[in-house]
Amino acid sequence: MKCCVVTLGCQMNQSDSERIRSVIEAAGFEMTDNEEEASLIGVVACSVRQKAIDKVYSKIQKWNKWKSQRPLITFVSGCILPADEVKFLGLFDLLFRMSELPELPTMLAQCGITTEFSVRNQTVELHREDERTDFWQVDPTYTSSFEAFVPVQNGCDKFCSFCAVPYTRGREVSRASTEILQEVEKLIANDVKAITLLGQNVNSYGQDKPDDEISFAQLLRKVGELGEASGKEFWVYFTSPHPRDMTRDVIEAIADYDCLAKQIHLPVQSGDEKLLRRMNRNHSIEAYLTIVDDIRELLPTATIFTDIIVGFTGESEEQFENTSDLMKKVKFNMVYVARYSPRVGARASRWKDDITLEQKSERLARLSDVLKETSSAHNQTMIGKTYRVLVERADKRMEGALASRTEGKLLVRIIDASEDLIGTFQNVKITSAVSLSLTGELV
Ligand code: SF4
Repeated sequence: MKCCVVTLGCQMNQSDSERIRSVIEAAGFEMTDNEEEASLIGVVACSVRQKAIDKVYSKIQKWNKWKSQRPLITFVSGCILPADEVKFLGLFDLLFRMSELPELPTMLAQCGITTEFSVRNQTVELHREDERTDFWQVDPTYTSSFEAFVPVQNGCDKFCSFCAVPYTRGREVSRASTEILQEVEKLIANDVKAITLLGQNVNSYGQDKPDDEISFAQLLRKVGELGEASGKEFWVYFTSPHPRDMTRDVIEAIADYDCLAKQIHLPVQSGDEKLLRRMNRNHSIEAYLTIVDDIRELLPTATIFTDIIVGFTGESEEQFENTSDLMKKVKFNMVYVARYSPRVGARASRWKDDITLEQKSERLARLSDVLKETSSAHNQTMIGKTYRVLVERADKRMEGALASRTEGKLLVRIIDASEDLIGTFQNVKITSAVSLSLTGELV
């Protein structure tokens, strides 16, 4: 019997999918990417974006029609708002939270090959149990042979007013550091080249267990020690941190170990103090700039990425300009700009979404222009120099070229290179640069 798992949303969902796949394979299913040949189809959903939820509804309507033609069981898991859970219970045969993943084989066995609606009731009961963390002990079926995500923490206590994650994933729960380090050690032994430590609020790691767990900086140091002891070359990233928990000792730890990548993705969301308060971000612009200064001082080669929301409810032209000014000041290497849209469940969804789509698009375009300027100026300084890169895949835009990334996650297109190099580190001399990418040749 074959199973197809469709993953929507962020890297955390992708990581969850890797564990779901392992459990399903252990239950005797063969994985396929083709929904049409599967007798078990699941979706790892994302309630955080309306588009992703719309996709879930269109998928399940199609799958439920297929049930009149062949035996089929459907399931849904992932990041789901309570309101969506109730609706999904009427559409899918199984609904489970990641904390219930170890129960999945039992649920499947009870389903047989035909739909058993009684299973839904059992699943609802399981939801009321205390949050469990033993699903992290499931060995994931990694989708890549050279890049891997390692979950270190789940949930969020920050309650930013625009975000629904605390309502879909629940409160912060840290994974045992012994488990995290075992998983990292295995990945190093398997010659994985890029490891990303994942969490909704990754650098608040350990704060929910102050007496039993180490801090995020200490966790990074332990990963760094594993890297040094192995003598192998690999890069370790983490995402996403919150500025409020970005302490200097985290940056010091990154500086002390070669394997801890010199790349920081630090979401700021807005450059305006008042807007930051309405977003409930709980830090000031000054505090953010102090972190940037620490990064520049301790990690002089580091690239800095961020996330920004434009057109948040009530954002004035002047407040938007403050964000634009912050971008010019920090000179980010990459900025993921999102137009604000209300998320059902989030506090700000009750406030008026009073910035028009045209205004949001215009502000997004203006920030893109700022990014083009700062990133282009940085990338021009790289021309003629040689950088270590990790080759990721064949380049989609240029035939015969490969797409790779520097330690700072800058995209480098390598011309005239063999696909045998995918998954390896190479030295590349940069020959030309534009705003968001570079071109180079192997040396
Ligand atoms: S820190 Fe804010 S934006 Fe990030 S997951 Fe938590 S609530 Fe959402």
